[in-house]
Amino acid sequence: MWCRNCNIETNDTICPVCSETTVEDIPIEIYWCVHCKTPIIQNVTQADKGICPLCGEIIKYLSADLRPVFPEERLLLELLLDKEPNEFIKKSVWAANSRYYIDGKSIAISSKTFQLADADSLSNKIS
Ligand SMILES: [Zn+2]
Ligand SMILES: [Zn+2]
Repeated sequence: MWCRNCNIETNDTICPVCSETTVEDIPIEIYWCVHCKTPIIQNVTQADKGICPLCGEIIKYLSADLRPVFPEERLLLELLLDKEPNEFIKKSVWAANSRYYIDGKSIAISSKTFQLADADSLSNKIS
């Protein structure tokens, strides 16, 4: 069990420190390994946190939440960033809230930018 308030692990449904109700899931954090070019998901309580389980190198913290980016979204992202279509196709592209991570490098794009993107001019650019 996990207390969100105190960020501690406990065996009780009530936190022994602050008496808040605890949750079952221990939060995860997402890290990036520059060597393996891959996101690494770690438990906040695990002992070897910050170390890549694949290569043993130090990994850097990315976010508490990460999702994969699908091809259409990736294409839109490339156009919004003035890149060639499919420029990121061989890269590892992930998203967390309004940030994108391209090979572990974070890029901030607001959802507004996406909404304001002119669909017509974008499709012209692709064709
Ligand atoms: Zn607590
Ligand atoms: Zn690694």
